[in-house]
Amino acid sequence: MKKSFDIVIVGSGIGGLSTLLYLSETHLFKQGKLDICLIVKGSLNETNTNWAQGGIAAVYAIGDDFEKHISDTLVAGGFVNNKEIVEKVICAAPSLIDDLIQWGTQFDKKNLQEFDLAKEGGHSESRIWHKEDQTGKAIQDALVTSLGALNNVTILEQTSVVNVTKHADNFFGLIVYDNKNKSHSNIFCGKLVLATGGLGMLYDKSTNQQLSTGDGIYLASQLGATIENLSFIQFHPTGLYENGQISFLISEALRGAGAILRNEHGDAFMHKYDDRLELAPRDIVSRAIVAEISSQNNPFVYLDTTQVNIASLNTHFPTIKEECMLRIGLHIEKEFIPIIPVQHYSCGGIKVDEFGETTIAGLFAIGEVACTGLHGANRLASNSLLEAIAFAKFAIPKLTQKSDTSVKIEKEEELPILKQIDKKFIQQIMSKYAGIIKSKEGLIVAFDQLSKMKENASVLPNFNIENFEANSILEVAILLIQDAQNKTTNKGVFYNIDLV
Ligand SMILES: Cc1cc2nc3c(=O)[nH]c(=O)nc-3n(C[C@H](O)[C@H](O)[C@H](O)COP(=O)(O)OP(=O)(O)OC[C@H]3O[C@@H](n4cnc5c(N)ncnc54)[C@H](O)[C@@H]3O)c2cc1C
Repeated sequence: MKKSFDIVIVGSGIGGLSTLLYLSETHLFKQGKLDICLIVKGSLNETNTNWAQGGIAAVYAIGDDFEKHISDTLVAGGFVNNKEIVEKVICAAPSLIDDLIQWGTQFDKKNLQEFDLAKEGGHSESRIWHKEDQTGKAIQDALVTSLGALNNVTILEQTSVVNVTKHADNFFGLIVYDNKNKSHSNIFCGKLVLATGGLGMLYDKSTNQQLSTGDGIYLASQLGATIENLSFIQFHPTGLYENGQISFLISEALRGAGAILRNEHGDAFMHKYDDRLELAPRDIVSRAIVAEISSQNNPFVYLDTTQVNIASLNTHFPTIKEECMLRIGLHIEKEFIPIIPVQHYSCGGIKVDEFGETTIAGLFAIGEVACTGLHGANRLASNSLLEAIAFAKFAIPKLTQKSDTSVKIEKEEELPILKQIDKKFIQQIMSKYAGIIKSKEGLIVAFDQLSKMKENASVLPNFNIENFEANSILEVAILLIQDAQNKTTNKGVFYNIDLV
């Protein structure tokens, strides 16, 4: 197997694949002068991208403009966003939609000419490009299909990156683990792109797929990269109330289409919390639901979709309708859906500049793993797919810049030594003390418990991937708690009862 590359991309969601496709459009690649390797821990389609429902935001409709989208993004983010980045991403958004269409993504249309744009919580205009309620799948399928046309890229599936070192000569050494054959090897590269997605598995209930164990943040922090705002975790207000860690997401586009939140008595309650009612930003809706749950007997509230036009349910929300029936035998056109807020999105992550480069030269972070400044203290709905593709494009000039060092093949490194970690215990601690509502005392308890766990854990005799992920979860959880302890005010998704 080839061992040295110009660029290694880790991850096959919208972040990783759009980086690869933009690279494939450069002269260097077309001239055969860019050696690229794509590494993913599952199969190419096993990503969170594949599960995105609502869509991707971009100004297009008559009456909408960049200023409005910029303002909505800043309001949701509590004005701690990086305004220059917000402007750069939002002004680029329409051309990025063109790129997605060019790569084969089909968005829903109202008629032959006009695209059918939806409105979601926090957006003042209809600007969400979607494909029914399976937009992520439409994007993922198109990107994977486009990838098939590239014949000079090395693709390693079922392979996890479990360690990264930076060599004195400015190139990276990766230890990769073959999850099927349970063997490891070394790969070297000049530039490394981490597009490893989110960290949902830190919590006991999340909309994220199992792969979201924070690996990119763990690997980057071990290299000494700056990690920023990890405690800005967005909880989705409407996860289906059911057993298991991965909670099926009931898209907020349903609230945009007229669905109403009701408590156990069937009473609407959002008017008590925000003038924007069901269309208030996610953090406000999540906290309102937590408050309602704490003053009633049921551990969930309801989303009433019986008011939504049946034709709209069938046309725009076929997957939600089907999943509610499959999972809990519920007819959403006749019955209320039981829901609870669940972990959904990491607004913080590895700090990057406007080109997606981290504080370590040559190391890039693209997609949910990165903290770009776009979201500030809270992500506006449908701005995350946008952020991922935007930074994939912004990164190209720096990624293709010539570096003076050439990649060498160094001596083989052994697998890292891991500790025996109980992942479930971390998830319980994080959900109890570092969830939607935090307190100073709760964060101290969480930090002590996890630090003790780390200190006292025994060394694992043999490497296994489950424990690598558990180690990653533990390290990232500790970083998140430390970040929460350093916050001095409540902003956006961050809420500590002891702060104002
Ligand atoms: C249910 C759901 C609905 C959503 N709906 C929307 C929406 O409507 N609009 C919107 O804008 N956003 C939405 N989001 C958020 C959005 O989907 C994600 O933020 C985005 O898809 C993340 O893309 P990504 O490329 O960063 O990572 P992902 O798509 O999660 O891909 C991560 C990749 O990294 C790989 N990986 C991870 N660790 C390693 C490792 N150690 N070694 C090798 N490979 C590794 C994985 O195999 C995978 O290929 C939703 C998220 C969820 C979960």
